[in-house]
Amino acid sequence: VIHLEDIRKSYFIGKNELPVLKGVTLDILKNEYVALMGPSGSGKSTLMNILGALDTPTSGKYILSGHDVSVMEDNELARIRNQEIGFVFQQFNLMPRLSALENVAVPLIYAGISKKEREEKARLMLEKVGLGDRYKHKPNELSGGQCQRVAIARALVNDPSLILADEPTGNLDTKTSVEIMEIFGRIHASGNTVVLVTHEEDIADHARRIIRLRDGVVESDKMNPVKSLAH
Ligand code: ATP
Ligand code: MG
Repeated sequence: VIHLEDIRKSYFIGKNELPVLKGVTLDILKNEYVALMGPSGSGKSTLMNILGALDTPTSGKYILSGHDVSVMEDNELARIRNQEIGFVFQQFNLMPRLSALENVAVPLIYAGISKKEREEKARLMLEKVGLGDRYKHKPNELSGGQCQRVAIARALVNDPSLILADEPTGNLDTKTSVEIMEIFGRIHASGNTVVLVTHEEDIADHARRIIRLRDGVVESDKMNPVKSLAH
């Protein structure tokens, strides 16, 4: 699904160049479950934003499902973001004034789907993440774990092939994190490709492959012995 070739990314602060990714080359296959780890500042979020077409690399090649994302125009990037990718953030990024149902339905507005169909789909997704009874609640009426479920339902509603999650359990307690990881496990089992950033080894152990970044390069890339044995 993903092919990255010598991806480099620098941020420019005035005239100063801050190189963050210094040549990342890797492939992620369809239906892989990858944990991305590494110290704070190693470039994990920067790489995830590039994978999610939220940001573009300074140089290098990014092919997603056969499309060369690195040469795309903004409108094409927006389309691929909306149709091919589901993004889950640490801070949930829900719209505070919208109900759970309305939040989940947002990506469908851009897809040009009728209101009735949007609500049906959104409700189905909320049921899938165990929130069928909370669809009218606004984010501030939900717990952190419930907010993250809403965000996951929103990421899945367009049926994207690639799910990206940047520290999705970073703001959650251990018990809630386990519940959220069970949902990601189900998403992977149903045929999606999942890439997830985490600081915690326990969380990474849910993945089949663990990639570690350090100082903007891939330090190690290994199959997770715990999960490989199980398959
Ligand atoms: P963490 O584990 O703390 O989330 P990370 O591995 O996700 O860290 P990044 O967020 O990718 O790290 O940041 C890598 C480096 O790039 C950091 O030094 C950060 O300060 C810098 N950086 C990130 N975003 C920007 C930006 N928009 N402008 C300038 N510098 C940035
Ligand atoms: Mg980060």
